[in-house]
Amino acid sequence: MSEPRRVAVIGSGFGGLAAAIRLQSAGMQVTVFEARDKPGGRAYVYEDKGFTFDAGPTVITAPDCIEELFRLSGREMRDYVELLPVRPFYRLGWEDGDTLDYDNSFGERITAKWPEERAGYERFLAYSREVFAKGYTDLAATPFLRFWDMVRVAPDLARLRADRSVYSAVARFVGNEKLRQALSFHALLVGGNPFETSAIYTLIHYLEREWGVHFPRGGTGALVRALVRLFGELGGEFHLGMPVRKIRLSGAKHIVATDTGETVFDAVVSNADLSHTYADLLSGEGRAEPMRKRLDSMDWSMSLFVIYFGTNRRWPDLAHHTVLFGPRYEELLRDIFRGSALPEDFSLYLHAPTVTDPSLAPEGCEAFYVLSPVPHLGNAKLDWATIAPAYADRILAYLERSLPGLTASIVTKRWFTPSDFASELSAHHGSAFSVAPRLTQSAWFRPHNRDANIPGLYLVGAGTHPGAGVPGVINSAKATAQLLVRDFA
Ligand SMILES: Cc1cc2nc3c(=O)[nH]c(=O)nc-3n(C[C@H](O)[C@H](O)[C@H](O)COP(=O)(O)OP(=O)(O)OC[C@H]3O[C@@H](n4cnc5c(N)ncnc54)[C@H](O)[C@@H]3O)c2cc1C
Repeated sequence: MSEPRRVAVIGSGFGGLAAAIRLQSAGMQVTVFEARDKPGGRAYVYEDKGFTFDAGPTVITAPDCIEELFRLSGREMRDYVELLPVRPFYRLGWEDGDTLDYDNSFGERITAKWPEERAGYERFLAYSREVFAKGYTDLAATPFLRFWDMVRVAPDLARLRADRSVYSAVARFVGNEKLRQALSFHALLVGGNPFETSAIYTLIHYLEREWGVHFPRGGTGALVRALVRLFGELGGEFHLGMPVRKIRLSGAKHIVATDTGETVFDAVVSNADLSHTYADLLSGEGRAEPMRKRLDSMDWSMSLFVIYFGTNRRWPDLAHHTVLFGPRYEELLRDIFRGSALPEDFSLYLHAPTVTDPSLAPEGCEAFYVLSPVPHLGNAKLDWATIAPAYADRILAYLERSLPGLTASIVTKRWFTPSDFASELSAHHGSAFSVAPRLTQSAWFRPHNRDANIPGLYLVGAGTHPGAGVPGVINSAKATAQLLVRDFA
């Protein structure tokens, strides 16, 4: 019997973990190298004074794509981690104090609030279902390697008007500005400006209705730990705190260099930031030059400022996920995605996981994070070490309106800035979601799941097809692993 193929996976974000599990399940010998001391990438976990804070993803959708990873080896996800349903999916709030809960009963809520919009909403829902069938079911895990792959789907994309933005697609169906915001903000969850991101992303509305919004018991970190455990049971090798410094090519082999030595692999799957992969890990490799240049000229998604904080009290009417729209929508988004300064106002996402799972904080306490989308460092060269404390104070003072007594009850807090995205995750421009999900940077136009010039180099995660978000990167792993398995068959 021949030796199993040896594959290195660089990075243990959801994309890296899913690729490692798929390849190990397919009989390859996989080694994961993770730079940080814990797995998960953007789904890192902080623990402090009895509070557990998930650093990144909290809205878990499309559980099917996660379950599939366990079923590959005849296992069941429920034996590893429990996904709890979250209701409402989100609570939406506006400056004038108006709120709207968003979940499967959204249609009825619209009838109660804006009866004249119900028919338009139903037509939007039908459109979103159609986009979902094409954009998610058919294409999310299909690698786009040749221009022909794009030509093949072009008629469908044209029919669904993928050239329109999410906001303008929504605006064709409903007129109320708050409802337009409620149906378009989802683009932000994958790093896109609703006014610039392809209408394909309206599929998220249907995806959430179809499969619900979930939260793992024990936090998103529990889902990461479940995947790491599964990978270990399959015989995979995992190194934490071991950044890859260099990838060198030697004939058909890849030599992966870390601080402890060099190891030879048949293939490398990089889950690390694309720019870091091509500019740093492959520096000196001429064949990496075209992609290096291309990445420089691409449009990168915005960054985030995130405050993690715990309080010594609870608020009885809190929702798990709250989106607070600021006084401006389109203009603020323009400032965030194109501006060169930190906007004065903000729109916030507030995460209160203890609403669903109180075990994430000591008895009688609440765990939170609040995030504010902000320009990436390529657009706004801000000195975050200096401005972060005052910016955090402004955000927390603003939250007092919804959570009276908040600032006085905070017992622990920390934050993560665009500079931290750059230094901790090697994220280009400190971008939180990698390459922006515009139509001209999607599918065939997005960096491919297999490099065109360097044999044996594969990519997985937010910067590749289909894009950011947990379902996105888990589907990117499916596309990447399929290619690699086929190439080595
Ligand atoms: C605050 C926040 C909230 C979010 N909320 C949601 C949400 O609610 N729902 C949702 O679906 N998505 C959400 N997202 C998006 C989602 O988290 C990401 O798109 C996704 O997790 C990215 O996964 P990835 O596979 O691309 O890898 P990443 O998570 O980017 O991980 C890459 C890994 O590579 C490692 N690495 C980098 N360089 C090296 C090296 N040289 N050697 C070894 N390792 C290296 C890094 O340390 C990191 O662990 C959120 C993102 C953020 C930042």
